[in-house]
Amino acid sequence: MDINAIRSEYPILSQEVYGRPLIYLDNAATTQLPLPVWRAMERYYTQTHSNVHRGAHLLSETATAQLEEARQTAACFLGAEDSREILFTSGATEGLNLLARSLEHLILPGDHILVTVLEHHSNFLPWQELCARTGAQLHIVPITGSGELDREQLRRLLTLPQVRLAAVTAVSNVLGVCNPIREIAGEVHGAGAWLVVDGAQGLRHGRLDMITLDCDAFAFSAHKMMGPTGTGVLYVKASLLDQLRPCVFGGGMVDQAEELRSAYAPPPAGLEAGTPNIAGIIGLRAAMDYLTRLGLEEIARREAALLSRAEAGLRAMPGIQVYGAPSHRAGALSFNLTGVHPFDAAALLDRLGIALRSGHHCAQPLMRRLGVTGTLRVSPAFYNTEDEVDAFLAGVQKVLDVTEVYHG
Ligand code: PLP
Repeated sequence: MDINAIRSEYPILSQEVYGRPLIYLDNAATTQLPLPVWRAMERYYTQTHSNVHRGAHLLSETATAQLEEARQTAACFLGAEDSREILFTSGATEGLNLLARSLEHLILPGDHILVTVLEHHSNFLPWQELCARTGAQLHIVPITGSGELDREQLRRLLTLPQVRLAAVTAVSNVLGVCNPIREIAGEVHGAGAWLVVDGAQGLRHGRLDMITLDCDAFAFSAHKMMGPTGTGVLYVKASLLDQLRPCVFGGGMVDQAEELRSAYAPPPAGLEAGTPNIAGIIGLRAAMDYLTRLGLEEIARREAALLSRAEAGLRAMPGIQVYGAPSHRAGALSFNLTGVHPFDAAALLDRLGIALRSGHHCAQPLMRRLGVTGTLRVSPAFYNTEDEVDAFLAGVQKVLDVTEVYHG
């Protein structure tokens, strides 16, 4: 990878903050957009901006073709069997909520739904709410001391009668733990349940293949993969897709609207009510093409090397606690400085130009399991450099030194 050439496509990365070069290490929250993604959206807005699906004029037909091409690209990117399995959403959160709502009629009182303690609230609360509405029972699969999913406990819970669904993250946004989705899919399907995967953090860690992973649903957001905010995909395997019922009603999703009762279009249209985020979807397509051009395996290798460098440096510093020691970590790493609140540490690092995330990372059950109210999280992307990781480590050391003096 020619890092200088790559960075030249991200003007935002070459700015200064507080008179220092910006070191952006908050990529698990949102990634930056390269120029090819911007340009694709700019071309749409300056040349073909128009509403999709219902227009008989050239601009509308062009915009519709671009949207449907993006669906094809997403199907290829995910290794889906059929592009109708791709639903466009506003992001992972909407995708998971949409799924929970549209399969509600399939869940009965006394059914069991499993989530894991690693989940972001987006893959926890929709299932908790679904249980409250249907009378199903929610169970939380714990983690081991190293932060990995406790597979024994998962297998034990899967022996409950009427387990309908397990919702599991591909990669934890707090610990960076990578779950073995294919193996988990085998166990969940063995129990006759569906596997829903939160793929929000799972996109830059190698090529995806839904057929091999064999999950029933997979949700993600464009803004964590060099695309724009407000756009995402919910992949649903055809066998589950055909059982879903629309849960948002309006334009674009109806086959025949009658005074008393209406018939809805089959998916994907039936589950995509209203005008979609057309520019965002075009940007998402450009982001997928961009990542594919760079090489997903190469991206994964580079990000793993940067994260290992950060982890090794942090572990070598007295006064730092790193959370979890999984056999496979990707994307993000959580840590704390002894005796320093993560917000204070993040604010001090910010003054050094270093952007990190701090807090509970929308994973409060996991914070309770770790026995903390919050952590600092470092999450490099392939466009970060080794020098930036070293500057981050030096910054952490500086905060340790300063706070030690302060604590006196
Ligand atoms: N799931 C995980 C693991 C995440 O990290 C995030 C965002 O941080 C989400 C879901 C929610 O994504 P969005 O806010 O884009 O819907």
